This record gives sequence, structure tokens and C-alpha cells, in this order.
Amino acid sequence: MSWKLMIHGGSGAMRPGTIGTDQEARALAGLDAALDAGQAILAAGGSALDAVEAAARVLEDDPSFNAGRGSVLNAEGIAELDAAIMDGRDRSAGAVAGLRTIRCPVTAARAVMEHSPHVLLTYDGAEVFAREQGLETVANEWFVTPDRRAQLAQLVADGGEFDADIKYGTIGAVACDVNGHVAAATSTGGLTAKRWGRIGDSPLIGAGTYADDRAAAVSATGLGEVFIRGAAAHELCARMRIGGEGLQQALDAVLADIRGLGGNGGLIAVAPSGEAAWGFTTPGMYRAVAGPDAREIRIYDDASER
Ligand code: ASP
Repeated sequence: MSWKLMIHGGSGAMRPGTIGTDQEARALAGLDAALDAGQAILAAGGSALDAVEAAARVLEDDPSFNAGRGSVLNAEGIAELDAAIMDGRDRSAGAVAGLRTIRCPVTAARAVMEHSPHVLLTYDGAEVFAREQGLETVANEWFVTPDRRAQLAQLVADGGEFDADIKYGTIGAVACDVNGHVAAATSTGGLTAKRWGRIGDSPLIGAGTYADDRAAAVSATGLGEVFIRGAAAHELCARMRIGGEGLQQALDAVLADIRGLGGNGGLIAVAPSGEAAWGFTTPGMYRAVAGPDAREIRIYDDASER
């Protein structure tokens, strides 16, 4: 059996020429580094779970993406971080939401999965738990970049509505290991100017993140409210497991449903066979895939990249 790793750094309104070449180069380098981290584990026979965590940690630390360092800011100018991880072997899962000082939210999610009787911890309680687990802490300012401050100021100046040209910079990783087990991880700062303790789909098991050895591992990016309503990640797996659909077919059907509900975004998925698929309703999605003999890193849709 061969391994496979697929990652995303968010979907959005990126078209060739609409993002700076510097920004483009940094994002491509970030995706490349994340593939390296996950690939090193999978190629050595390591687990899909370790690989998705390793890849997600690289992307969390990279300010090009809306997760960990470089996360978007809430209405008060604070980074609040959400993440989830799931192991397809036994559908064990862990998630955190509203973290403010834990450097690697995906590792906090894994700690919830492995060292607590719970699946989802939020806000102050999640912080206390992560600190008790000895996870690295940083000041909230460590996550904040000048670009994200400017983005928040612009949105507030424009009236605080969601931006139609938005780039959902959430990150995610899905993998299949040489033993045919799958795992998924997703990490995000959520949406710019979020209020009222808003939590999106990323840390919600079945919405933005799901992994099941009987079907696939899935990670989403996009307007979280719609992915929650569509139970997107689980729906993709259910279409395969109960409906008998293929991976790409199930993924496309879920994205069509998301679009029908008025949302947009993207999905990546890997099956225990090693088959991988991606799709998005936006002009672009930061994404990459690696296997034993191939590696591909993309931003725009196929038509504009040809
Ligand atoms: N799905 C994320 C959320 O709604 C946003 C994103 O994909 O960037 O929180």
C-alpha cells in the first residue's frame, strides 16, 4: 500500500495576478515545507495521524495562512484559534476552539483526543487544559501580523460585512499511511471580525474535519456556517460508505450542496486506497499533494493555470 498526503491553505478569490508574486512565492514555499514535514513521516512508514499533525503545525506557524501565526483577527483585534484532528482507525477525535495563547492549536486538539475524555474544549477551559498538558504558550500578539490588523481595519471601515472577495486561509491536511489508515486535521483563525464567540466548521467533527477508515479523511475551507449546515466532511464520507459513491464524485456532490446552500469554499480528501481528491467553488485554493512518486502544488483553478 502506498502513502498519500494532501494539504490546503484555504480557498478564495485568488486569480493569477491578483496576489503579489512575493505573497504567492511565500505561500508556495509554505505548502512545500508542510508537504516535506508530513512526507518525511509517511515515507518512513509513520502514521497518517502524525503526518497530518506535522504538516498542520508547519502551516500554523506560517504567517501566509489563516491559522496559528497570521490568523485573522476577531472584532476586538485578538486572534482566536480553532483546530481539530481525527484518526480514521477508530474515529477518535479532538478539537479546540477559541484558543488565544497556545502556539500549536492542532497539537492541543490532539492532546484533547489522547489525554482527555472529551472531544471539543473551548475558550478558557481549553487554554487551561493545554497548559496543563505542557503545550507551548505565546502572547496573543505573537499570532498577529500587520496584514491582519490592516484587514480588520479595512473591514470595520467598510461596515464590518463579510468580504465577497474573501480568501479563506484556513489550513488542513489529510493523509493515508502505508497501512491504509487515514487521518485529517484542520486549523484556523476563523473569519475576520468575528464576534459573539463565533466558531466555524473547522473544529467541528463532521463539518470541517472528519476521518473514517471506512470512507475517507476530509478537511474543509470556506464559509464555515454553510459547511456546518451541510455537515460537509461527514456527508462526503457517508456518500461513499452508504451511497457507494467514489471519492471525487462524493466531494463534488458535497460542494454542489454547499453552493446550493449559498456557501463557497473547498474540500480535500484522501481514501484508504491512497486515492486523493480536491475541489473548490472559489477561483482558487492553496493546495498540494504528495505521494511516493509525485508532488504537485497549486493555487489557481486548472483553466487559469494552463
Ligand atoms: N472555514 C473557516 C471558518 O469558517 C474559514 C476558512 O476556511 O478560512 O472558520
